[in-house]
Amino acid sequence: MSVSDLKPGVIKECQICRSKKIYEILDLGHSGLCDSLLTKNDLNKFEKSYPLKLLKCRNCHLLQINYVVDNKEVFHLDYPYKSGITKTLKDLLHNTSKYAVKNYKFSKKPLAIDIGSNDGTLLEGFKNQGFKVLGVEPTNIAKLANKKGIKTIQKFFDNKTARIIKKRYQKADVITGTNIFAHINKLDSLMNGVKSLIDRKNGIFITESHYAVNILDEMQFDSIYHEHLRFYLLKPLIYLLNKYGFKVIDASRIPNYAGSIRVTATLNKNIKPKTNVKKIIDQEKKRGFYSEKKYKQYAKKVISVRKNLSEMLWKLKLKRKKIAGVGCPGRSITLLAYCNITNQLIDYIAEQASSLKLNMFTPSTHIKIIDEKYMIKNQPDYALILSWHYGKNVMKNLRNKGYKGKFIMPLPKPRILN
Ligand SMILES: [Zn+2]
Repeated sequence: MSVSDLKPGVIKECQICRSKKIYEILDLGHSGLCDSLLTKNDLNKFEKSYPLKLLKCRNCHLLQINYVVDNKEVFHLDYPYKSGITKTLKDLLHNTSKYAVKNYKFSKKPLAIDIGSNDGTLLEGFKNQGFKVLGVEPTNIAKLANKKGIKTIQKFFDNKTARIIKKRYQKADVITGTNIFAHINKLDSLMNGVKSLIDRKNGIFITESHYAVNILDEMQFDSIYHEHLRFYLLKPLIYLLNKYGFKVIDASRIPNYAGSIRVTATLNKNIKPKTNVKKIIDQEKKRGFYSEKKYKQYAKKVISVRKNLSEMLWKLKLKRKKIAGVGCPGRSITLLAYCNITNQLIDYIAEQASSLKLNMFTPSTHIKIIDEKYMIKNQPDYALILSWHYGKNVMKNLRNKGYKGKFIMPLPKPRILN
């Protein structure tokens, strides 16, 4: 049986092995979509929200959410995210091409295809290394990539899109995808598409997925939202790739997106896997990631974060302290909604002037997002760091810009920093 091409609605079986043995780890309540921000006018209207639970499969150890929202609604045309936005992220995305060139041999005029290529930042890396490049990106950010000279097809990647590409281009030497195994609901169509486009002999398929070990170790439950349908240990990734005839030949942990796992696979059965693959699997097993106990402990910790953070903020509020949020990444929407941190607690969220989110409001919690200059001018007593996974940098930047108040770091444990 192939993996499922998901339909919107409640998930009743494991998305990759189809087992019915899935159980609940966390219930995060209902949440709006994190990249569907509200306008001022929307605040007076009925607001959509969806159930958000984290489930685990007893059979293949996949972690997944319990509810699928239509991809077209999640990755709508005006999706506000640009991957090239920071220098750090740009460098991290360019590492993928450096890794590929260092470790594998390619044809004379190699082709690299990136699935979910956003503004083309990752492909720029390949282009710099002499590759022909092609991006596939469903949102309007594709236009931006094309303007920059990164050829991009504005479509969802599936088997149908793969057929169109196949007619016009050579077989791909490299296919990359960051977070596609989390984002795309049509996994079966995705895998068949990749299989049909990749060079069968020397082609490599590199995926980078947010790593479940980081999500548990570092209390990153805020990265659970409807864009992320699945979270992976290495074991279920191997299961998924094997199912489509791919052999996993390398795996490594990388810092991207607060802790990812990069997995390289090929259709060529003669290539020997590197020892990293077994090492990581052994670690996952040794540290209990295949057992239920680990997840029970995790759920308990998440609940205590909710209680402690909420208490901390209400205490400050009762003392009439001013609190602003800082940064509004997708994950902040889950944190705010789950911990019930609304516009009654937080005055506004400060974002850099170039953000596409300015003057919008967070779904569910209705906090206005404004230019950080306002925050520097008004000096709130506390700054709640919502992009806490880049916490040190964020704090340093704000100090440099002249913020004098205190910081609140919500995770992994809520704490106040002077
Ligand atoms: Zn499963």
